[in-house]
Amino acid sequence: MTFLITAGPTREPIDPVRYISNRSSGKMGYAIAEAALDAGYDVILISGPVNLAPPRDAKFISVSTSDEMFEAVHRHAGASDVCVLCAAVADYKPAQVSPVKIKKNADGISIELVPTRDILQSLGRQRAREFLLVGFAAETDHLEANAAKKLREKNCDIIVANDARIAMETDENELLILFRDGERKKISRAPKTFLARELVKIFANSQQKRLTKKEKSSKEKNSEEKEALSPTLY
Ligand code: C5P
Repeated sequence: MTFLITAGPTREPIDPVRYISNRSSGKMGYAIAEAALDAGYDVILISGPVNLAPPRDAKFISVSTSDEMFEAVHRHAGASDVCVLCAAVADYKPAQVSPVKIKKNADGISIELVPTRDILQSLGRQRAREFLLVGFAAETDHLEANAAKKLREKNCDIIVANDARIAMETDENELLILFRDGERKKISRAPKTFLARELVKIFANSQQKRLTKKEKSSKEKNSEEKEALSPTLY
């Protein structure tokens, strides 16, 4: 089984020396990558800029902008069984990137921002996808309602919700896991390494269940088609 994992923040350039980013440390995504490797799975880790050493046995792809992450994810998702989009992708990027350093201006300046492409949503829109799709939701309020909305709108199989104030730049986290079929699971505060091992088990089981269900329904479909084709004898 191959896990594709995105981790860390993205950087959206303003000019050659400035960018927009966020406080994501990448720790949760890297812990999931380590846990998946420990469980014997192959891992493709697509990471924004973080201060962490890449896991030794992972295929490691270093990216900076949301567009680079988008391209890398789409290049590798088709060959993956579980896609875990844990990265804190910037929601907006400057409409234009200045090729030269913008000069200081006593009047202040405005920067026009445009939405970045939503990587998770773009995978959720793939109708014939074979992989399990997992998104993360880091919220500061209405955790469950916002996470449930994301699960629906981005068409994921699983959303892992956490409180951004607990999760950002720390070694611990607490999780609420929402599944497409309405099931929910809570994991109380624990080290990210422990949570990562639990998540990998949950993701691998869910993908297994999904495949079994798909196989069963395609077998049923095949036998119905055969029945329809076979001549009726009187
Ligand atoms: O909508 P929001 O950014 O809160 O959703 C979070 C989830 O969506 C995370 O799984 C994140 O990796 C993913 N995401 C993405 N591309 C974006 C923004 C968010 O894949 N441009």
